[in-house]
Amino acid sequence: MNLTVMGERVRALNQQPIREGGRYVLYWCRWNRRVASNYALLYAAEMANHMNLPLVCLERLSCAYPTASDRFHTFVLEGVPEMQARLHKLGAGYIFQLPRRKTTSDARLRTVIQGAAAVVTDECLRATPRLDVQLHAVDASCIVPLSKIPQRSYAAYSIRPKIHRLLPEFLRPVPGVELRLPCRETFGDLHTEVTAGNLAELVASCEIDHGIRPSTTFRGGRKAAERTLRRFLEDRLRRYARDKNEPSAHATSDLSPYLHYGYISSLEVALAVREHAREHKLIADEFLEELIVRRELAFNFTRYADRHDTLDALPDWAQKTIAAHRNDTRDPLYSRQQFEAAATHDDLWNATQKELCLRGKIHGYYRMFWGKKIVEWSVSASEALATMLYLHDRYALDGDDPNTYTNILWCFGLHDRPWPERPIYGTIRSMVRSGMERKTNVDAYIREIEYLERTGKELTA
Ligand SMILES: Cc1cc2nc3c(=O)[nH]c(=O)nc-3n(C[C@H](O)[C@H](O)[C@H](O)COP(=O)(O)OP(=O)(O)OC[C@H]3O[C@@H](n4cnc5c(N)ncnc54)[C@H](O)[C@@H]3O)c2cc1C
Repeated sequence: MNLTVMGERVRALNQQPIREGGRYVLYWCRWNRRVASNYALLYAAEMANHMNLPLVCLERLSCAYPTASDRFHTFVLEGVPEMQARLHKLGAGYIFQLPRRKTTSDARLRTVIQGAAAVVTDECLRATPRLDVQLHAVDASCIVPLSKIPQRSYAAYSIRPKIHRLLPEFLRPVPGVELRLPCRETFGDLHTEVTAGNLAELVASCEIDHGIRPSTTFRGGRKAAERTLRRFLEDRLRRYARDKNEPSAHATSDLSPYLHYGYISSLEVALAVREHAREHKLIADEFLEELIVRRELAFNFTRYADRHDTLDALPDWAQKTIAAHRNDTRDPLYSRQQFEAAATHDDLWNATQKELCLRGKIHGYYRMFWGKKIVEWSVSASEALATMLYLHDRYALDGDDPNTYTNILWCFGLHDRPWPERPIYGTIRSMVRSGMERKTNVDAYIREIEYLERTGKELTA
Protein backbone atom coordinates (compact mmCIF):
# COMPACT_ATOMS: atom_id res chain seq x y z
CA MET A 1 0.00 0.00 0.00
CA ASN A 2 1.53 3.33 -1.06
CA LEU A 3 0.52 5.73 1.72
CA THR A 4 1.31 9.39 2.40
CA VAL A 5 1.29 8.72 6.13
CA MET A 6 4.70 7.24 6.74
CA GLY A 7 5.43 4.25 8.97
CA GLU A 8 7.07 6.44 11.61
CA ARG A 9 3.63 7.74 12.63
CA VAL A 10 1.86 4.38 12.59
CA ARG A 11 1.90 1.61 15.23
CA ALA A 12 0.08 -1.73 15.12
CA LEU A 13 -1.87 -2.13 18.36
CA ASN A 14 -2.74 -5.80 17.77
CA GLN A 15 -1.96 -8.69 15.46
CA GLN A 16 -5.54 -9.25 14.30
CA PRO A 17 -6.28 -9.66 10.58
CA ILE A 18 -8.35 -7.43 8.33
CA ARG A 19 -12.00 -8.53 8.61
CA GLU A 20 -13.24 -10.24 5.46
CA GLY A 21 -16.57 -8.69 4.44
CA GLY A 22 -16.04 -5.54 6.54
CA ARG A 23 -18.17 -2.73 5.11
CA TYR A 24 -15.92 0.24 5.90
CA VAL A 25 -12.62 1.34 7.37
CA LEU A 26 -13.28 2.89 10.77
CA TYR A 27 -11.44 5.89 12.15
CA TRP A 28 -12.15 5.72 15.88
CA CYS A 29 -11.43 9.30 16.84
CA ARG A 30 -10.40 9.36 20.50
CA TRP A 31 -8.14 12.42 20.60
CA ASN A 32 -7.88 14.45 17.36
CA ARG A 33 -11.38 15.79 16.78
CA ARG A 34 -10.75 17.44 13.44
CA VAL A 35 -10.83 16.80 9.72
CA ALA A 36 -8.04 19.15 8.64
CA SER A 37 -4.41 18.43 9.46
CA ASN A 38 -5.07 15.00 10.89
CA TYR A 39 -2.65 12.21 9.99
CA ALA A 40 -4.86 9.58 11.67
CA LEU A 41 -7.86 10.49 9.53
CA LEU A 42 -5.63 10.65 6.45
CA TYR A 43 -4.21 7.20 7.16
CA ALA A 44 -7.70 5.74 7.62
CA ALA A 45 -8.85 7.42 4.38
CA GLU A 46 -5.90 6.09 2.41
CA MET A 47 -6.53 2.63 3.78
CA ALA A 48 -10.21 2.89 2.80
CA ASN A 49 -9.25 3.97 -0.73
CA HIS A 50 -6.73 1.15 -1.01
CA MET A 51 -9.36 -1.41 0.09
CA ASN A 52 -12.03 0.19 -2.07
CA LEU A 53 -14.25 0.77 0.95
CA PRO A 54 -15.90 3.86 2.39
CA LEU A 55 -14.59 5.59 5.50
CA VAL A 56 -16.58 5.95 8.71
CA CYS A 57 -15.54 8.06 11.68
CA LEU A 58 -16.67 7.12 15.19
CA GLU A 59 -16.65 9.37 18.24
CA ARG A 60 -17.86 8.12 21.59
CA LEU A 61 -18.12 10.23 24.72
CA SER A 62 -18.11 8.08 27.84
CA CYS A 63 -19.50 9.17 31.19
CA ALA A 64 -17.89 6.26 33.02
CA TYR A 65 -14.82 8.15 34.23
CA PRO A 66 -15.07 9.64 37.75
CA THR A 67 -14.78 13.34 36.78
CA ALA A 68 -17.20 13.38 33.82
CA SER A 69 -19.12 16.64 34.09
CA ASP A 70 -21.15 19.27 32.24
CA ARG A 71 -17.90 21.09 31.53
CA PHE A 72 -16.20 18.33 29.53
CA HIS A 73 -19.39 16.98 27.95
CA THR A 74 -20.37 20.44 26.71
CA PHE A 75 -16.93 21.13 25.28
CA VAL A 76 -17.02 17.88 23.29
CA LEU A 77 -20.65 18.12 22.18
CA GLU A 78 -20.11 21.66 20.92
CA GLY A 79 -17.67 20.25 18.38
CA VAL A 80 -19.84 17.40 17.11
CA PRO A 81 -22.16 19.12 14.56
CA GLU A 82 -19.17 20.74 12.80
CA MET A 83 -17.19 17.49 12.71
CA GLN A 84 -20.21 15.69 11.27
CA ALA A 85 -20.79 18.37 8.61
CA ARG A 86 -17.12 18.39 7.54
CA LEU A 87 -16.95 14.59 7.32
CA HIS A 88 -20.17 14.35 5.33
CA LYS A 89 -18.81 16.95 2.93
CA LEU A 90 -15.84 14.65 2.33
CA GLY A 91 -18.14 11.68 1.73
CA ALA A 92 -17.30 9.92 5.00
CA GLY A 93 -19.83 8.45 7.42
CA TYR A 94 -20.02 9.74 10.98
CA ILE A 95 -21.27 8.07 14.14
CA PHE A 96 -21.44 9.82 17.49
CA GLN A 97 -22.25 7.75 20.56
CA LEU A 98 -23.27 9.17 23.92
CA PRO A 99 -23.80 6.49 26.56
CA ARG A 100 -26.03 8.17 29.19
CA ARG A 101 -25.28 5.93 32.18
CA LYS A 102 -21.98 4.93 33.71
CA THR A 103 -23.14 1.33 33.36
CA THR A 104 -24.43 1.57 29.75
CA SER A 105 -23.17 -1.49 27.89
CA ASP A 106 -20.82 -1.09 24.95
CA ALA A 107 -23.08 -3.15 22.64
CA ARG A 108 -23.56 -0.24 20.21
CA LEU A 109 -19.80 0.28 20.07
CA ARG A 110 -19.27 -3.41 19.35
CA THR A 111 -21.82 -3.32 16.53
CA VAL A 112 -19.89 -0.49 14.85
CA ILE A 113 -16.57 -2.33 15.27
CA GLN A 114 -18.10 -5.52 13.82
CA GLY A 115 -18.86 -3.70 10.58
CA ALA A 116 -15.25 -2.55 10.17
CA ALA A 117 -12.66 -4.19 7.93
CA ALA A 118 -9.93 -2.39 9.91
CA VAL A 119 -9.78 0.25 12.64
CA VAL A 120 -7.47 3.25 12.92
CA THR A 121 -7.26 5.34 16.08
CA ASP A 122 -5.19 8.14 17.57
CA GLU A 123 -1.93 7.55 19.40
CA CYS A 124 -2.89 8.84 22.83
CA LEU A 125 -2.81 8.34 26.60
CA ARG A 126 -6.01 6.23 26.56
CA ALA A 127 -5.87 2.46 27.20
CA THR A 128 -5.64 0.30 24.09
CA PRO A 129 -9.03 -1.24 23.23
CA ARG A 130 -9.07 -5.03 22.71
CA LEU A 131 -10.56 -5.61 19.28
CA ASP A 132 -10.96 -8.68 17.09
CA VAL A 133 -9.95 -6.74 14.00
CA GLN A 134 -6.75 -5.03 12.82
CA LEU A 135 -6.10 -1.87 14.86
CA HIS A 136 -3.48 0.80 14.15
CA ALA A 137 -2.67 3.94 16.14
CA VAL A 138 -1.46 7.02 14.28
CA ASP A 139 0.60 9.74 15.92
CA ALA A 140 -1.24 12.87 14.78
CA SER A 141 -0.63 15.06 17.83
CA CYS A 142 3.02 15.97 17.41
CA ILE A 143 4.87 17.72 14.63
CA VAL A 144 7.92 15.46 14.83
CA PRO A 145 6.66 11.86 15.13
CA LEU A 146 7.38 10.50 18.61
CA SER A 147 9.16 7.49 17.12
CA LYS A 148 11.83 9.75 15.57
CA ILE A 149 13.24 10.42 19.07
CA PRO A 150 13.06 6.87 20.39
CA GLN A 151 14.26 7.41 23.98
CA ARG A 152 13.40 9.59 26.94
CA SER A 153 14.82 13.14 26.84
CA TYR A 154 15.64 14.59 30.24
CA ALA A 155 15.41 18.32 29.53
CA ALA A 156 14.46 20.87 26.93
CA TYR A 157 18.11 21.47 26.06
CA SER A 158 18.62 17.83 25.09
CA ILE A 159 15.48 17.43 22.93
CA ARG A 160 15.67 20.91 21.31
CA PRO A 161 18.53 20.19 18.84
CA LYS A 162 16.95 16.88 17.83
CA ILE A 163 13.60 18.54 17.14
CA HIS A 164 15.18 21.43 15.25
CA ARG A 165 17.15 19.02 13.08
CA LEU A 166 13.94 17.14 12.16
CA LEU A 167 11.64 20.15 11.69
CA PRO A 168 12.44 20.85 8.02
CA GLU A 169 11.16 17.36 7.22
CA PHE A 170 7.99 17.53 9.32
CA LEU A 171 6.92 21.17 9.56
CA ARG A 172 4.83 20.83 6.40
CA PRO A 173 1.08 20.86 5.81
CA VAL A 174 -0.78 17.55 5.97
CA PRO A 175 -2.20 16.66 2.53
CA GLY A 176 -6.00 16.97 2.24
CA VAL A 177 -8.18 13.87 2.48
CA GLU A 178 -9.88 12.54 -0.65
CA LEU A 179 -12.19 9.55 -0.64
CA ARG A 180 -12.73 7.24 -3.58
CA LEU A 181 -16.03 5.81 -2.35
CA PRO A 182 -18.71 7.86 -0.55
CA CYS A 183 -20.36 6.28 2.51
CA ARG A 184 -24.04 5.61 1.75
CA GLU A 185 -24.78 3.61 4.88
CA THR A 186 -26.99 5.16 7.58
CA PHE A 187 -26.48 4.15 11.18
CA GLY A 188 -29.90 4.58 12.79
CA ASP A 189 -29.79 4.33 16.56
CA LEU A 190 -26.08 3.55 16.58
CA HIS A 191 -25.72 7.34 16.23
CA THR A 192 -26.90 10.21 18.44
CA GLU A 193 -27.66 13.40 16.56
CA VAL A 194 -26.26 16.51 18.27
CA THR A 195 -27.48 20.01 17.38
CA ALA A 196 -27.17 23.43 18.99
CA GLY A 197 -30.85 22.96 19.95
CA ASN A 198 -30.57 19.64 21.83
CA LEU A 199 -27.09 19.98 23.28
CA ALA A 200 -28.08 21.20 26.75
CA GLU A 201 -30.76 18.53 27.00
CA LEU A 202 -28.28 15.81 26.04
CA VAL A 203 -25.79 16.98 28.66
CA ALA A 204 -28.55 17.10 31.29
CA SER A 205 -29.57 13.52 30.44
CA CYS A 206 -26.13 12.05 31.19
CA GLU A 207 -25.06 10.54 34.49
CA ILE A 208 -22.28 13.05 35.11
CA ASP A 209 -21.45 15.76 37.66
CA HIS A 210 -23.83 18.63 36.82
CA GLY A 211 -22.20 20.79 39.51
CA ILE A 212 -19.10 21.45 37.39
CA ARG A 213 -20.44 24.05 34.99
CA PRO A 214 -19.16 24.65 31.43
CA SER A 215 -16.23 27.05 31.14
CA THR A 216 -17.15 30.73 31.42
CA THR A 217 -14.72 31.44 28.60
CA PHE A 218 -14.05 28.55 26.22
CA ARG A 219 -16.54 27.11 23.72
CA GLY A 220 -15.73 23.79 22.06
CA GLY A 221 -15.41 23.07 18.35
CA ARG A 222 -13.30 23.68 15.31
CA LYS A 223 -14.64 27.16 14.58
CA ALA A 224 -13.92 28.30 18.12
CA ALA A 225 -10.38 26.92 17.75
CA GLU A 226 -9.90 28.78 14.45
CA ARG A 227 -11.23 32.02 15.99
CA THR A 228 -8.83 31.64 18.91
CA LEU A 229 -5.90 31.14 16.54
CA ARG A 230 -6.94 34.17 14.46
CA ARG A 231 -7.18 36.37 17.55
CA PHE A 232 -3.72 35.22 18.59
CA LEU A 233 -2.22 36.05 15.20
CA GLU A 234 -3.93 39.42 14.85
CA ASP A 235 -3.67 40.72 18.38
CA ARG A 236 -1.38 38.72 20.62
CA LEU A 237 1.57 37.22 18.75
CA ARG A 238 3.40 40.53 18.42
CA ARG A 239 3.11 41.00 22.23
CA TYR A 240 3.86 37.39 23.15
CA ALA A 241 7.61 37.57 23.82
CA ARG A 242 7.28 40.69 25.95
CA ASP A 243 4.02 39.99 27.81
CA LYS A 244 3.60 36.23 27.97
CA ASN A 245 4.33 36.23 31.73
CA GLU A 246 1.89 39.07 32.46
CA PRO A 247 -1.52 37.41 32.93
CA SER A 248 -3.52 40.65 32.81
CA ALA A 249 -2.01 41.45 29.37
CA HIS A 250 -3.73 38.42 27.72
CA ALA A 251 -0.84 37.86 25.35
CA THR A 252 -0.79 34.07 25.24
CA SER A 253 -2.74 32.04 22.69
CA ASP A 254 -5.28 30.29 24.97
CA LEU A 255 -5.06 27.38 22.55
CA SER A 256 -4.32 24.63 25.09
CA PRO A 257 -7.98 23.43 25.44
CA TYR A 258 -8.26 23.23 21.63
CA LEU A 259 -4.94 21.43 21.27
CA HIS A 260 -5.89 19.02 24.03
CA TYR A 261 -9.24 18.11 22.47
CA GLY A 262 -7.61 17.97 19.05
CA TYR A 263 -9.84 20.65 17.52
CA ILE A 264 -6.67 22.10 16.05
CA SER A 265 -3.20 20.60 15.51
CA SER A 266 0.03 22.09 16.77
CA LEU A 267 1.28 21.66 13.20
CA GLU A 268 -1.42 23.96 11.76
CA VAL A 269 -0.77 26.48 14.53
CA ALA A 270 3.00 26.42 13.96
CA LEU A 271 2.59 26.86 10.20
CA ALA A 272 0.11 29.72 10.60
CA VAL A 273 2.30 31.46 13.17
CA ARG A 274 5.43 31.08 11.07
CA GLU A 275 3.64 32.45 8.01
CA HIS A 276 2.08 35.38 9.87
CA ALA A 277 5.40 36.23 11.52
CA ARG A 278 7.15 36.19 8.13
CA GLU A 279 4.51 38.40 6.54
CA HIS A 280 4.44 40.92 9.38
CA LYS A 281 8.16 40.77 10.18
CA LEU A 282 7.59 39.45 13.71
CA ILE A 283 9.75 37.11 15.73
CA ALA A 284 7.81 34.05 16.86
CA ASP A 285 10.65 32.04 18.38
CA GLU A 286 9.43 32.20 21.99
CA PHE A 287 5.98 30.98 21.04
CA LEU A 288 7.29 28.19 18.79
CA GLU A 289 9.62 27.06 21.58
CA GLU A 290 6.58 26.49 23.84
CA LEU A 291 4.35 25.01 21.16
CA ILE A 292 6.93 22.68 19.67
CA VAL A 293 9.90 22.02 21.97
CA ARG A 294 8.14 22.17 25.36
CA ARG A 295 4.99 20.46 24.16
CA GLU A 296 6.84 17.66 22.37
CA LEU A 297 9.15 17.18 25.37
CA ALA A 298 5.94 16.50 27.34
CA PHE A 299 4.77 13.91 24.80
CA ASN A 300 8.23 12.34 24.85
CA PHE A 301 8.01 12.12 28.66
CA THR A 302 4.61 10.39 28.79
CA ARG A 303 5.58 8.04 25.96
CA TYR A 304 8.85 6.82 27.44
CA ALA A 305 8.76 7.41 31.23
CA ASP A 306 7.55 4.59 33.45
CA ARG A 307 4.62 5.68 35.61
CA HIS A 308 4.39 9.20 34.24
CA ASP A 309 1.80 10.23 36.85
CA THR A 310 3.92 9.40 39.92
CA LEU A 311 6.90 10.88 41.77
CA ASP A 312 8.87 7.78 40.70
CA ALA A 313 9.26 9.41 37.28
CA LEU A 314 11.32 12.25 38.80
CA PRO A 315 15.11 12.44 38.44
CA ASP A 316 17.12 10.95 41.35
CA TRP A 317 18.21 14.30 42.74
CA ALA A 318 14.58 15.42 43.07
CA GLN A 319 13.45 12.19 44.72
CA LYS A 320 16.35 12.42 47.19
CA THR A 321 15.67 16.02 48.17
CA ILE A 322 11.94 15.32 48.60
CA ALA A 323 12.80 12.42 50.93
CA ALA A 324 15.31 14.53 52.88
CA HIS A 325 12.71 17.25 53.52
CA ARG A 326 9.64 15.13 54.13
CA ASN A 327 9.57 15.93 57.87
CA ASP A 328 10.00 19.71 57.47
CA THR A 329 7.28 21.71 59.21
CA ARG A 330 4.60 22.97 56.83
CA ASP A 331 2.88 26.17 57.92
CA PRO A 332 0.34 26.95 56.59
CA LEU A 333 -0.99 23.53 55.75
CA TYR A 334 -4.13 23.01 53.65
CA SER A 335 -6.29 20.03 52.76
CA ARG A 336 -7.44 19.17 49.26
CA GLN A 337 -10.89 20.56 50.14
CA GLN A 338 -9.40 23.91 51.21
CA PHE A 339 -7.40 24.13 47.98
CA GLU A 340 -10.44 23.23 45.92
CA ALA A 341 -12.55 25.88 47.67
CA ALA A 342 -9.85 28.53 47.04
CA ALA A 343 -9.73 29.04 50.80
CA THR A 344 -6.05 29.71 51.50
CA HIS A 345 -4.68 32.86 53.18
CA ASP A 346 -3.23 34.06 49.84
CA ASP A 347 -5.62 36.02 47.59
CA LEU A 348 -3.41 35.58 44.52
CA TRP A 349 -3.35 31.81 44.95
CA ASN A 350 -7.10 31.80 45.55
CA ALA A 351 -7.62 33.78 42.33
CA THR A 352 -5.60 31.20 40.33
CA GLN A 353 -7.75 28.39 41.73
CA LYS A 354 -10.90 30.36 40.87
CA GLU A 355 -9.57 30.87 37.36
CA LEU A 356 -9.25 27.09 37.04
CA CYS A 357 -12.79 26.58 38.34
CA LEU A 358 -14.30 29.28 36.11
CA ARG A 359 -12.33 29.33 32.87
CA GLY A 360 -11.00 25.78 33.01
CA LYS A 361 -7.32 26.73 32.78
CA ILE A 362 -4.85 28.96 34.59
CA HIS A 363 -2.50 31.43 32.93
CA GLY A 364 0.87 29.69 32.40
CA TYR A 365 2.94 31.91 34.68
CA TYR A 366 0.56 31.84 37.63
CA ARG A 367 0.01 28.13 37.02
CA MET A 368 3.61 27.60 38.15
CA PHE A 369 2.90 29.61 41.30
CA TRP A 370 -0.35 27.64 41.80
CA GLY A 371 1.54 24.33 41.63
CA LYS A 372 4.56 25.36 43.69
CA LYS A 373 2.34 26.58 46.53
CA ILE A 374 0.42 23.31 46.59
CA VAL A 375 3.80 21.59 47.04
CA GLU A 376 4.68 23.98 49.90
CA TRP A 377 1.30 23.91 51.70
CA SER A 378 0.53 20.16 51.51
CA VAL A 379 1.37 17.60 54.15
CA SER A 380 3.59 15.63 51.72
CA ALA A 381 4.83 15.63 48.16
CA SER A 382 2.61 12.70 47.27
CA GLU A 383 -0.47 14.47 48.62
CA ALA A 384 0.48 17.63 46.70
CA LEU A 385 0.74 15.60 43.50
CA ALA A 386 -2.60 13.91 44.14
CA THR A 387 -4.25 17.30 44.78
CA MET A 388 -2.91 18.82 41.56
CA LEU A 389 -3.96 15.84 39.46
CA TYR A 390 -7.39 15.81 41.11
CA LEU A 391 -7.96 19.52 40.45
CA HIS A 392 -6.85 19.16 36.83
CA ASP A 393 -9.03 16.10 36.27
CA ARG A 394 -12.03 17.91 37.68
CA TYR A 395 -11.69 21.40 36.22
CA ALA A 396 -9.02 21.78 33.51
CA LEU A 397 -10.13 21.79 29.87
CA ASP A 398 -6.53 21.03 28.94
CA GLY A 399 -6.09 18.39 31.68
CA ASP A 400 -5.22 14.68 31.32
CA ASP A 401 -2.76 15.69 28.64
CA PRO A 402 0.97 14.91 28.35
CA ASN A 403 1.42 18.57 29.30
CA THR A 404 -0.56 18.03 32.50
CA TYR A 405 1.64 15.24 33.87
CA THR A 406 4.89 16.79 32.71
CA ASN A 407 4.20 20.25 34.07
CA ILE A 408 2.74 19.09 37.36
CA LEU A 409 5.88 17.00 37.85
CA TRP A 410 7.94 20.04 36.83
CA CYS A 411 6.74 21.54 40.13
CA PHE A 412 8.73 18.69 41.77
CA GLY A 413 11.88 19.11 39.66
CA LEU A 414 11.15 17.26 36.39
CA HIS A 415 13.07 18.72 33.41
CA ASP A 416 14.65 21.23 35.81
CA ARG A 417 17.91 21.38 37.79
CA PRO A 418 18.75 21.68 41.49
CA TRP A 419 18.49 25.16 43.05
CA PRO A 420 19.85 26.49 46.37
CA GLU A 421 18.42 24.50 49.30
CA ARG A 422 15.30 25.77 51.13
CA PRO A 423 12.92 24.32 53.71
CA ILE A 424 10.22 21.98 52.36
CA TYR A 425 11.37 22.36 48.73
CA GLY A 426 14.91 21.15 49.36
CA THR A 427 16.76 21.83 46.12
CA ILE A 428 13.60 21.99 44.01
CA ARG A 429 12.94 25.44 42.57
CA SER A 430 10.57 27.49 44.75
CA MET A 431 8.33 30.43 43.92
CA VAL A 432 7.23 33.25 46.21
CA ARG A 433 4.38 35.75 46.18
CA SER A 434 6.77 38.73 46.33
CA GLY A 435 8.30 37.55 43.04
CA MET A 436 4.86 37.54 41.42
CA GLU A 437 4.26 41.06 42.74
CA ARG A 438 7.58 42.30 41.45
CA LYS A 439 7.17 40.82 37.98
CA THR A 440 3.42 40.97 37.29
CA ASN A 441 0.32 43.07 37.95
CA VAL A 442 -1.21 40.92 40.68
CA ASP A 443 -3.98 43.41 41.54
CA ALA A 444 -5.22 43.64 37.95
CA TYR A 445 -5.45 39.84 37.75
CA ILE A 446 -7.28 39.50 41.07
CA ARG A 447 -9.76 42.23 40.00
CA GLU A 448 -10.35 40.41 36.71
CA ILE A 449 -11.04 37.08 38.38
CA GLU A 450 -13.35 38.72 40.96
CA TYR A 451 -15.30 40.30 38.11
CA LEU A 452 -15.51 36.94 36.31
CA GLU A 453 -16.71 35.26 39.49
CA ARG A 454 -19.36 37.95 40.11
CA THR A 455 -20.69 38.34 36.57
CA GLY A 456 -19.66 35.20 34.67
CA LYS A 457 -18.19 37.56 32.04
CA GLU A 458 -14.69 38.45 30.96
CA LEU A 459 -13.65 41.98 31.92
CA THR A 460 -11.73 42.32 28.65
CA ALA A 461 -14.37 40.82 26.32
C1 LIG B 1 1.40 23.13 37.33
C2 LIG B 1 1.19 23.24 35.84
C3 LIG B 1 0.20 22.50 35.22
C4 LIG B 1 0.01 22.59 33.83
N1 LIG B 1 -0.97 21.85 33.26
C5 LIG B 1 -1.17 21.90 31.92
C6 LIG B 1 -2.21 21.13 31.31
O1 LIG B 1 -2.96 20.46 31.99
N2 LIG B 1 -2.34 21.20 29.96
C7 LIG B 1 -1.55 22.00 29.19
O2 LIG B 1 -1.73 22.04 27.97
N3 LIG B 1 -0.55 22.72 29.74
C8 LIG B 1 -0.34 22.71 31.08
N4 LIG B 1 0.67 23.46 31.64
C9 LIG B 1 1.62 24.17 30.74
C10 LIG B 1 1.23 25.61 30.40
O3 LIG B 1 0.91 26.30 31.57
C11 LIG B 1 0.05 25.66 29.44
O4 LIG B 1 0.31 24.86 28.30
C12 LIG B 1 -0.23 27.07 28.93
O5 LIG B 1 -0.41 27.93 30.02
C13 LIG B 1 -1.49 27.04 28.05
O6 LIG B 1 -1.91 28.34 27.75
P1 LIG B 1 -1.78 28.92 26.29
O7 LIG B 1 -2.37 27.97 25.33
O8 LIG B 1 -2.30 30.32 26.33
O9 LIG B 1 -0.20 28.90 26.15
P2 LIG B 1 0.78 29.62 25.12
O10 LIG B 1 1.80 30.32 25.93
O11 LIG B 1 0.04 30.40 24.11
O12 LIG B 1 1.54 28.39 24.44
C14 LIG B 1 1.03 27.74 23.27
C15 LIG B 1 1.02 26.26 23.49
O13 LIG B 1 2.34 25.80 23.77
C16 LIG B 1 2.28 24.73 24.70
N5 LIG B 1 2.94 25.10 25.95
C17 LIG B 1 3.00 26.31 26.54
N6 LIG B 1 3.70 26.23 27.70
C18 LIG B 1 4.07 24.94 27.83
C19 LIG B 1 4.83 24.22 28.80
N7 LIG B 1 5.35 24.80 29.89
N8 LIG B 1 5.02 22.91 28.61
C20 LIG B 1 4.52 22.28 27.53
N9 LIG B 1 3.81 22.91 26.56
C21 LIG B 1 3.59 24.22 26.72
C22 LIG B 1 0.80 24.48 24.99
O14 LIG B 1 0.35 23.47 24.11
C23 LIG B 1 0.18 25.82 24.67
O15 LIG B 1 -1.19 25.75 24.37
C24 LIG B 1 0.85 23.42 33.04
C25 LIG B 1 1.84 24.18 33.68
C26 LIG B 1 2.01 24.09 35.05
C27 LIG B 1 3.11 24.90 35.70
